[in-house]
Amino acid sequence: MAKQSWYTLAMQRVLVTGGAGFVGSHLCEKLINGGYKVVCLDNFITGSQKNIENLIGNENFEFIDNDVVKLSDEVKKGAFSHIFHLASPASPIDYQNYSEETLLANSMGTLNILELAKKDSSKVLIASTSEVYGDPLEHPQKETYWGNVNSFGPRSCYDESKRFAEASTYVFIHKYGIDARIVRIFNTYGPKMQKDDGRVISNFITAAIAGDQINIDGDGSQTRSFCYVSDLIEGIMKAMFSDSTKGEVFNLGNPDEHSIAELADKIIRLTNSESEIKFSGTFRKDDPMRRKPDIGKAENVLNWKPKVNLDEGLQKTIKFYKSS
Ligand code: NAD
Ligand code: UDP
Repeated sequence: MAKQSWYTLAMQRVLVTGGAGFVGSHLCEKLINGGYKVVCLDNFITGSQKNIENLIGNENFEFIDNDVVKLSDEVKKGAFSHIFHLASPASPIDYQNYSEETLLANSMGTLNILELAKKDSSKVLIASTSEVYGDPLEHPQKETYWGNVNSFGPRSCYDESKRFAEASTYVFIHKYGIDARIVRIFNTYGPKMQKDDGRVISNFITAAIAGDQINIDGDGSQTRSFCYVSDLIEGIMKAMFSDSTKGEVFNLGNPDEHSIAELADKIIRLTNSESEIKFSGTFRKDDPMRRKPDIGKAENVLNWKPKVNLDEGLQKTIKFYKSS
């Protein structure tokens, strides 16, 4: 991406849905630092005011308390140049607690955002997920893989509504010609993840710092590939602002794959913790056993790849958790 284009586009009005969440709050900050006027929409179902407190009062930042499922007239009249649609619970514990809200945010919420983008000819980026690949039979996962997904289980409120969001985006691109792209985000971590959101890195770091038992589901052999948040944000920016991304789908994640047992050992070492590890022996229902993105397309088209390795990213995250 030509860096210049960010600056050429600066001072345009950008909407970030889910902007008070973990990823959204980092994105709002990055956009403001790039000179954009940012409108952050959130209903705080899983996000927090604390995530955006450093932005409140900035003349280029505006917060709107709104549900993406029922957009206010103020938002509908916003005439945004760009829309980043991130509003949805993301942690499995959260989306299972808020299963109906998750279904609606990704279905009705996405349709509302696509309508808005159509009306104002805004460029739009839809946040999808590696969960569209389910418990994948292809490894690593390429964008062309269709997935192995259970439509009737505890994860389906999230997986299937994200797949609906992708299908809706396809329809709006092909029926109405809107300028949309999709990013499939793989496990991302870093400062501002809620300590109690139930995701593996937040759980392990919180337990390790407190010296509490670390609970591993199953035998810990299941894998994930963890991306540090600043790398993800860079990828999201490039997917929105680079040329030739209209109508495209990109995997964004770090292909460095680790088992959950390895992750626990690493976090214990980096925190100098005396926590003990307990294996439950049972995997969660429909838990993906392996997950690793093929990021060849993002490397070629966006000239993007992650820079922060797992030890470095975990150290930064541990520092944040200790100080907050
Ligand atoms: P998060 O839960 O921290 O943030 C989501 C934000 O969306 C929260 O602030 C929440 O309050 C808001 N929200 C949810 N429903 C809403 C609604 N109906 N109206 C308005 N606001 C609403 O999660 P996150 O990790 O920041 O995830 C952001 C996006 O990225 C999500 O779409 C998620 O599916 C996607 N994603 C994230 C990851 C990851 O590892 N972090 C992986 C895959 C996909
Ligand atoms: N996990 C675990 N202990 C925990 C939290 C998660 O063993 O305290 C496992 C979980 O069963 C899954 C993996 O870690 O296999 C990643 O879980 P997470 O909830 O972070 O997200 P997912 O990638 O499943 O969406």
